[in-house]
Amino acid sequence: MTQLANTATDNYPLCDGCAAAIVNADMGGFAFDPQISRLVETFVDAAGMLVHTGTNPVPDTVEWDCAACREPQIGDADWVTTL
Ligand SMILES: [Zn+2]
Repeated sequence: MTQLANTATDNYPLCDGCAAAIVNADMGGFAFDPQISRLVETFVDAAGMLVHTGTNPVPDTVEWDCAACREPQIGDADWVTTL
């Protein structure tokens, strides 16, 4: 598992699903999976107010973990940062 490069500060890489849920403050999409729903809520509680800062392409050869649901991801990362 590879951590994406600039996670040192308050920048977090998110998968599409978590980015949409967090930016829209709508956890309804995780209703099918209470465990993921809990992980995402825990992440939001710990991080505080988050704003979407952009999408970064990640080479397909790099596997990274979503900061919220902890699921391994391949491809572009949505980045959020704390206010
Ligand atoms: Zn995620």
